[in-house]
Amino acid sequence: MTQSVLPLAFCLLPSAFCLLPCAFVFAQHQAPHEIPRLPQALLERPTTVRTGVGAVHDAMAGASPEAQRFYDLGLAYLHSYVWIEAARAFHQALRLDPHLAAAHAAVSVAYLELNKPDEARASLATAQQLVAGRSAHERRHVELRALQAASEQAPANSATLAAYRTALQQASAEFPTDVEIALLKALATSDDHSERGQGLGAGAVTALENARSLAAD
Ligand SMILES: [Zn+2]
Repeated sequence: MTQSVLPLAFCLLPSAFCLLPCAFVFAQHQAPHEIPRLPQALLERPTTVRTGVGAVHDAMAGASPEAQRFYDLGLAYLHSYVWIEAARAFHQALRLDPHLAAAHAAVSVAYLELNKPDEARASLATAQQLVAGRSAHERRHVELRALQAASEQAPANSATLAAYRTALQQASAEFPTDVEIALLKALATSDDHSERGQGLGAGAVTALENARSLAAD
């Protein structure tokens, strides 16, 4: 549950805050547009382990070393907003270990960002079906993703975000050195239920610093 290098969105914290005003202006002037739906075969196309995308590691007990490597790669791509490659990496992990519930849950994030809500729901449902026999750590991640997804689907319902934040507090108490949970806590400081890190404000600094300190261990 350690990371030798924080993902792009978080290791560039000072730069990210410098860019906040520009991002705000961009958001104001960018016309809304729908992301085209990509062929499913593209998102499942086999991939290989890459370097230079951040060194993320969140150990899932019972996963084969190869499946773990691709799961970690998928997380790294998620943190860098490279949704297609994240989906490919998680699918590669799942070809190696179809029971890796955490990968089913994590790929739902990529699906959602790629305008595939049905696939996102299906992958999360599969994760929830498979997770019973997995470790407490993996069960936590699937639970967190389910609560996060419920919050994303109800952006006007503050109770869903509150429930997700409460679960994050419990998860971080149970797994205090888990960098992934620490990063999710930082994202959840935002009132945007779908926050992925690009809209974080000053309220996230303490949580991000905590994640960075954990990653440095
Ligand atoms: Zn974890």
